[in-house]
Amino acid sequence: MAQHSRPPIVTILGHVDHGKTTLLDYIRKSSVAAKEHGGITQHIGAYQVEHDGKLITFIDTPGHAAFEKMRSRGAKVADIAVLVIAADDGVMPQTTEAIKHIKEAKIPLIVAVTKIDLPGVDLKVQLERIKKQLSDQEILIEEYGGDTPFIPVSAKTGEGIDKLLEMIEVVAELNEIKGDPNFPATGVVIESSLDKFRGAVATILVRTGTLKKGEQILVGGVKGKIRGMFDYSGKLVESAGPSTPVEVLGMEAVPAVGAVLGEEISKQARLDGHPELGSGSQSLVDKLRQGDVKILKIIIKADKQGSLEAIEDALEKFNQEIAVVDIVSGGMGDISESDIKLAFSVRAIVVGFNVKVAPAAEKLAEVEQVLVRVYNVIYELIEEIEDVVEGMLKVGQLEEVLGRAEIIAEFPFGKAEKIAGCRMLEGAIAKGHKLRVMRDSQILAEVKIKSLKKVKEEVNRVEKGSDCGIIFDPKVDFHIGDFVESFRVI
Ligand code: GDP
Repeated sequence: MAQHSRPPIVTILGHVDHGKTTLLDYIRKSSVAAKEHGGITQHIGAYQVEHDGKLITFIDTPGHAAFEKMRSRGAKVADIAVLVIAADDGVMPQTTEAIKHIKEAKIPLIVAVTKIDLPGVDLKVQLERIKKQLSDQEILIEEYGGDTPFIPVSAKTGEGIDKLLEMIEVVAELNEIKGDPNFPATGVVIESSLDKFRGAVATILVRTGTLKKGEQILVGGVKGKIRGMFDYSGKLVESAGPSTPVEVLGMEAVPAVGAVLGEEISKQARLDGHPELGSGSQSLVDKLRQGDVKILKIIIKADKQGSLEAIEDALEKFNQEIAVVDIVSGGMGDISESDIKLAFSVRAIVVGFNVKVAPAAEKLAEVEQVLVRVYNVIYELIEEIEDVVEGMLKVGQLEEVLGRAEIIAEFPFGKAEKIAGCRMLEGAIAKGHKLRVMRDSQILAEVKIKSLKKVKEEVNRVEKGSDCGIIFDPKVDFHIGDFVESFRVI
């Protein structure tokens, strides 16, 4: 299958005032692509520059809130993050926050140390300090044995910026950013508004496929027919291919930022797929239930970036309340021996979509007892994972009550605390157990044991038939007649 590269989509994150906007402005002004448009001011929240004949798309909506908003809606928008750190300030709270977002988004990172032109900054000392601060955050640059590029730049003098753009190209190439233009578009809304004259306006960053004028689209539940499209310089365009940001007119309502275009991809894939493949004898659920699985680690291999992302996005929904699915890695191509090795070492399952399992990988998987499943229909894949996750959550909700006691007395303790005098009715209560204090059938509080005494002696465990004194952590305003239960989650 032909693999089409597309320009990398880059986002710039970092602490406030560390130079995100200035860097974006500098890159835009100095870029050939922008100059060709006669320096027309940018209209939308993303632009493209040309560097050494190749395009790079920058999202010009710096700010973690925007990034987070898109992520929380399940939209993966950037391929590469540039983390900006000012040479004089070093790592600051929002830098740390940005690192967290980047790690969660699982996208490659390039560090750009800005403001290196500032007078009065001992650059050598500061660069060393920043490298050390980064290593404390587990971001290892090359000198420290890692592979994170580290590039000092100035958006005032332009020093280092060419190198930064070059590095973006290198990272893009290493990560094989693909997007086939010969499909209906998938993309993400990066900004949207209601214009008095033009109606609902949305800027869509196309990731794969091509968006065409006149097309019917569905974005985050909002329908529309594309009446007109404008590129980042305000020029009317007929179509927009992978990695292109366009302003779209013709939506029936204003779609949310982060809304995804091409959610229908699963249906598309269903038509393309071969449902006769991908069914196994024993269900994934059964296999996983045999193990004590609390987090389902998954390695995904897919035929194209679009399907990989559709799968990743769909799986992300399982992590809304608590993290249950961990995508250890996602890539394109057939399932190989190294995928099985990785799966074995981290106890993951391997899920393939429209790919084959290399014979050597199949053998190894059998030997190492690694579960491999291949699907040709995304919804089937998701449905099976859904079953597994539901199973896991149910298991997580099961509790075993280990002991039950009634509070039959209370004694003051210290200035503000009190001891619950308890009579053990059933089972045992021991230090380390989770406890809850109950009134009728209501849970008053979930607590831990701060002190557990039998007569005057501190003990680790009390059993049915004996009396004890418990101090709860945190404090609980209990009454005589309340109950204490010890339990564990299984
Ligand atoms: P943002 O909040 O991260 O977008 O930061 P800005 O781009 O608004 O920059 C904050 C301040 O730092 C502004 O006053 C900029 O002029 C200044 N600044 C940004 N980059 C550089 C640089 O490379 N060199 C110098 N000397 N100042 C810079």
